Amino acid sequence: MFVDYAKIKLKAGNGGNGAVAFHREKFVAAGGPDGGDGGRGGDILFQPDDNLSTLADFRYKRKYNAQNGENGRGRNCTGKNGENLIIKVPRGTLVREAETGRLLADISTDEPQLVAKGWRGGWGNSHFATPTRQVPRFAKPGIPGEELEVQLELKLLADVGLVGFPNVGKSTLISVVSEAKPTIANYHFTTLTPVLGVVHMGEGDSFVMADIPGLIEGAGEGVGLGHQFLRHVDRCRLLVHIVDVSGSEGRDPIEDFNIINCELEKFDPQLATRPMIVVGNKCDLATDEQIAEFKEYVEGRGYEFFPIMAAIRYEVDPLLNRIRELLSKLPPIRRYEPEAAPQKPVEDMTRREVKITNEDGVYMVEGEWLLQVLNSINFNDYESMQYFQRVLIQCGVIDALREAGIQEGDTVSIYNVEFDFVE
Ligand code: GDP
Ligand code: MG
Repeated sequence: MFVDYAKIKLKAGNGGNGAVAFHREKFVAAGGPDGGDGGRGGDILFQPDDNLSTLADFRYKRKYNAQNGENGRGRNCTGKNGENLIIKVPRGTLVREAETGRLLADISTDEPQLVAKGWRGGWGNSHFATPTRQVPRFAKPGIPGEELEVQLELKLLADVGLVGFPNVGKSTLISVVSEAKPTIANYHFTTLTPVLGVVHMGEGDSFVMADIPGLIEGAGEGVGLGHQFLRHVDRCRLLVHIVDVSGSEGRDPIEDFNIINCELEKFDPQLATRPMIVVGNKCDLATDEQIAEFKEYVEGRGYEFFPIMAAIRYEVDPLLNRIRELLSKLPPIRRYEPEAAPQKPVEDMTRREVKITNEDGVYMVEGEWLLQVLNSINFNDYESMQYFQRVLIQCGVIDALREAGIQEGDTVSIYNVEFDFVE
């Protein structure tokens, strides 16, 4: 079965806890603090695998965890980092946040893409030693890894999409021009899976063609088979609309042509504006008049027309040459840009609860909500840092620190962020 949609749960690795430990050795009376840091939690990344063509695996395994970082230990031993988890998906898979539908990544290029972040481990107590604080009896806990539910949606990557009624010869065409071997049979809906084929035009020159299962009337409204496949046409740069020009099944080619165009438009008005050429197949069964009539009709509407006999590859080369020529002038296959997490306007925020513990001049601030804010901050970005500062003021964290007695120069520690307090 062809599965092109799935929902899974991701949990990146927790950072390991920092250790509280003191150096012990014979004849050394009071050793210094030597608690090591916790290891980093593993990230979850996605990467395309061209051996996969569906998301079927994700129907059985729904939970994916990256490894946690190990806790730090004495003698300044840092905990081991958790291993990253790389999830392999078919090329062209979109990863969205399930709750909001926000696009997190388009897995169509080779490099693995980060989707759920593992966090740094907590600092061991050796970090907190200062000339005046020689015996820090605290360390920092690791931060829990990011946890989210994502929706996977496959949107095939192909230059050319074959569309048309069932049984017009789409699968036959792709099988004679590429290595793809879809089932071909003289009945409707033999193709239940979109099939990709690479068409080689010569040295280093090729394009990808997709055989999109037959569309039927009503498909655009989700009636019957075909609708679920329409989204695979979405990224195609060029549509090749195949029609049985002989009307061999008692059908009217012109009517068929219009029905399919209507379905495409209903599904997505943008599809109706996608460059399209028209192929009249089964010319061996058609009379010259039938072919001429259909040709006149589609050319009258501004489409280029190519009469072929797919089954014997007759007149297929002129079609391929024209496809290649058109593709060379069209923009590349569409890649989707990830959408940034929406940041709530700071003005709408009010004071929120935080837990502050003063550990010998280090003010540790904790709060579930703060962790979420931190997850959305990019610490390499000035704007984002400014935003974070405004949140701290607006949500009363700075006031709460003052109430807890913080002094100029004391250290503030909010999960993975540390800074000196300045008035
Ligand atoms: P699809 O449903 O559009 O993928 O159509 P298929 O490729 O499975 O073809 C449907 C039927 O049409 C099969 O029996 C093919 O052998 C037949 N067919 C394909 N091309 C031609 C052609 O050029 N001439 C004739 N007479 N039959 C063809
Ligand atoms: Mg087919």
